[in-house]
Amino acid sequence: MATVALSGVSKRFGDTPVLDSVSLEIEDGEAVVFVGPSGCGKSTLLRLIAGLDDPSGGEIRIGGRDVTEVGPAERGVAMVFQSYALYPHLSVYENLAFALRLAKRPQAEIDQAVRAAAETLAITPLLDRKPKALSGGQRQRVAIGRAIVRSPEVFLFDEPLSNLDAELRGRMRYEFARLHQQLGRTMIYVTHDQVEAMTLADRIVVLAGGVVQQVGAPMELYHRPANRFVAGFIGSPGMNMLPGVLEGFAGGVARVRLAGGALVEVAADASAAVAGAPVTVGVRPEHWRRDAATPNALELPVMFVEALGGVAYAYLTAPDGEGQLVVQTPGDLTLKAGDRARLGFDPAEAHLFAEAGPAFPRLGRD
Ligand code: ADP
Ligand code: MG
Repeated sequence: MATVALSGVSKRFGDTPVLDSVSLEIEDGEAVVFVGPSGCGKSTLLRLIAGLDDPSGGEIRIGGRDVTEVGPAERGVAMVFQSYALYPHLSVYENLAFALRLAKRPQAEIDQAVRAAAETLAITPLLDRKPKALSGGQRQRVAIGRAIVRSPEVFLFDEPLSNLDAELRGRMRYEFARLHQQLGRTMIYVTHDQVEAMTLADRIVVLAGGVVQQVGAPMELYHRPANRFVAGFIGSPGMNMLPGVLEGFAGGVARVRLAGGALVEVAADASAAVAGAPVTVGVRPEHWRRDAATPNALELPVMFVEALGGVAYAYLTAPDGEGQLVVQTPGDLTLKAGDRARLGFDPAEAHLFAEAGPAFPRLGRD
């Protein structure tokens, strides 16, 4: 059983707090992704779990055992870094075998483990090559293979795809998902890329400024973001944020006067707020409607349009006349720069946030 449990884990470098009381329970075999902007503390948290750094406070348990004071080699974890430094003078085979040779395992066992890992990663034909004769994606696979041969209870990945080009990242993302299914081991994966987080995770942990913002299944975070930060971070392009003032809450609907004057309705429980409170209405690009019957209709100038084929993104001047708003439309829908577009959104699909950021409970549908 390799559960990972963090309880009140903090880290400071000198006087600078980097992680603030992180508590988290990861189940055996679960794939958990830590996601957040650069500098939010993702790598630091992973290094604490790996035992490469000591926490300033709190407790870390792996498989039920308190490992807070245990060295990295005794934790049953293997970590793969963004910069996957392979030994340049060793063949792929010897790179894979390295940790087991160091541990003085018998040759038959080493050979079996190396060949099994190579099969899993489809790099068997490369075993005799040196790293310099490999592509970036192949090197990344060897780095993952070095972790697999050690048969750890927990895999730790720190932005393993960051050095690869966009197309390869897409393919490797799929391979990671497959690898997790195949190995069935607990996996903690760090990335700043919300697409990687959405596609790989059983559960996502969103971090910002060293504080856990929300933990949940990908679609839970998409449908019910706990605050404005998570709402803006999960989903691409990001959620449109429209500033306004709460006019009232009745019948399960909050009425909001948007900056610019329009009155809109959001199915959110704003009973905890007073009329006149500053709020933000959140509407995802994919939730705008252009049909004649749309509620919350607004008329906005189109600034430019990105036609991607299957879909197009229209960028419009926001209702406050200053900000910008992104609307997803079918690819062959002909909006063009200079048009005034009439569009709106369903109150049940919008989000509402208090001034400090927390979301009002949604009363709409998922
Ligand atoms: P992320 O991986 O999310 O980009 P990190 O965990 O690497 O972020 O870093 C979080 C913060 O801690 C950053 O502000 C970084 O500058 C700081 N930091 C990381 N390692 C050290 C260190 N060894 N000494 C001082 N500050 C550090
Ligand atoms: Mg990092």
